[in-house]
Amino acid sequence: MKKTLSTFLGDARTEISSPVCYQVLRRKIVALMAIVSLLPLLSLAGINYYEHQSAMTAEIQAPLRALVGKAKHSFELFLAERTSAVSFIASAYSFDELSDGANLKRIFQVMRREFTGFVDLGLIDSTGRQISYAGPYNELIGRNYSEQEWFHQVQFKGTYVSDVFMGFRKFPHVVIAVRHTSESGKSWVLRATLDTMHFDRIIAAMGLGADGDAFLVSRNGILQTDSRRYGQVLDTLDFPLPPTNFEANVQTIQDSQGDTIFIASALITDTEFALVDVKVKPTVFNTWYTVRADLLFIFVTGVALIFLAVYRVTSLLIVRLQESDAQRLGAIHQMEHSQKLSSIGRLAAGVAHEINNPLAIINEKAGLMRDILNLQPECSFSDKFAKQIEAIQRSVDRCRGITHRMLGFAKRMDVKIEILDLNAILLETLGFLEREAQYRNVTLETELAQDLPRIPTDHGQIQQVFLNILNNALAAVPDGGHIVLRSWSENDQIVGISIADDGCGMSEETCKHMFEPFYTTKKEKGTGLGMSITYGIVKRLGGELQVQSKLNEGTTVTILLPKKLVEG
Ligand code: ADP
Ligand code: MG
Repeated sequence: MKKTLSTFLGDARTEISSPVCYQVLRRKIVALMAIVSLLPLLSLAGINYYEHQSAMTAEIQAPLRALVGKAKHSFELFLAERTSAVSFIASAYSFDELSDGANLKRIFQVMRREFTGFVDLGLIDSTGRQISYAGPYNELIGRNYSEQEWFHQVQFKGTYVSDVFMGFRKFPHVVIAVRHTSESGKSWVLRATLDTMHFDRIIAAMGLGADGDAFLVSRNGILQTDSRRYGQVLDTLDFPLPPTNFEANVQTIQDSQGDTIFIASALITDTEFALVDVKVKPTVFNTWYTVRADLLFIFVTGVALIFLAVYRVTSLLIVRLQESDAQRLGAIHQMEHSQKLSSIGRLAAGVAHEINNPLAIINEKAGLMRDILNLQPECSFSDKFAKQIEAIQRSVDRCRGITHRMLGFAKRMDVKIEILDLNAILLETLGFLEREAQYRNVTLETELAQDLPRIPTDHGQIQQVFLNILNNALAAVPDGGHIVLRSWSENDQIVGISIADDGCGMSEETCKHMFEPFYTTKKEKGTGLGMSITYGIVKRLGGELQVQSKLNEGTTVTILLPKKLVEG
């Protein structure tokens, strides 16, 4: 897992700084976290769902099976009792006794009293002719049954229970027929008819409830009792009955109405029909379906929440990562910059030092030349020479100034920290430039915070900072331009000073290089040292220098200085 995880995230880490790779990393982390948290949840929910479903099914099927088993037993008992009664009469009386119509009627009376459901009773001899009859249809006497199927069946099997049929009275009947063979070898058949009201009673006793349905059906699909769902008695069931045997069993099938049903069925012994109990699955599962909908809602909400949380956390993580990468990159750039400054500074200091000696010699020699010239005033070139010497000395002074500043840039100047009023230094520095500003019609505005705290700093250095920045501003503005000086207390640790001009502004290229020593856009007029020296001083005083500039609109240089000097 560890290996795959690292390979999974690894390639994204190699090119960390492009925004696309953060996207890829975010997508990968979200996917991984989602998989890790959702997979167990999903499989758990799946297993739970399946288990619950099968438990529910078992819970429905078991009582259904038991119910059908019990009802089947009642049917068998009912029919067995009736068959035994007929069988008993067939064997208890002789053929002659039974063929006496009055006698048969009397026996039938007793039989009806003891057993409910009998409609009539008839004696049929071995040729299939009805000899005597007790019941409502006297015209049946003499009728010949030898061609009928049931007669062959009873000859063959001994007892026979027919399918349900409509009798003369137009209600459903069942025939029970019993063959008896006397000791003398004579055989006859006793045939009784039962109405099926008692079947309905047994089914009603099953206690099916409002939406249950139970019925008897023959093997060839003819309803033997009324069904709530599939029609009246003697209608044909319009879907095939699943395989059924004598033991009750439950199956799940699709019925003709398109519903999924639990169908419990069992064959009734010694008959051609089966008892069927039907329960419609959606009705039984109704409560489960509502619970399932609730569970699904909770599940989906849970998944959504997990996803959201994962996404939020990952986003947060990526943002942090991005920030820290940017910070690291910034720090590296800053370090490179200071490194560059300090090496150039050292170089400059070396050069300045080396140049100082020849400069001193040039100065000395120029002084000597002037002295010699003073000794011989009659020389015709003396005036010209004096001017040249003066020019040499002026240039040497200028060079000295530059080397002095270069040494300052390289931290060779002494620092003297005092508690000073920055506003006062600003105004004092401004004094140096007032004349030029007036001459060029440049407005110098000040918005200085009156309650600006005095801070520990070096007078000379801070003045140089202000002067450098003001000089640049003055150089940048056209005649009639504006320069605004502000000071304020940024917070309880920092004071801010800004110098804003509406001059030429800087290109991106200039902005990038302005702090580099000797970088100037002013050709001969500039030294390119001002900003690099300023940057070095502000840093040394524990401050911060910020420049905002837009080409042709102006520049604002902001200096942030600490109210308390930090040691080191
Ligand atoms: P110098 O002034 O001698 O050129 P600096 O180090 O003071 O050197 O400035 C470097 C460069 O930065 C300048 O040449 C100029 O292009 C740019 N610069 C500095 N300040 C400003 C400003 N206020 N407006 C426009 N450009 C500026
Ligand atoms: Mg300058």
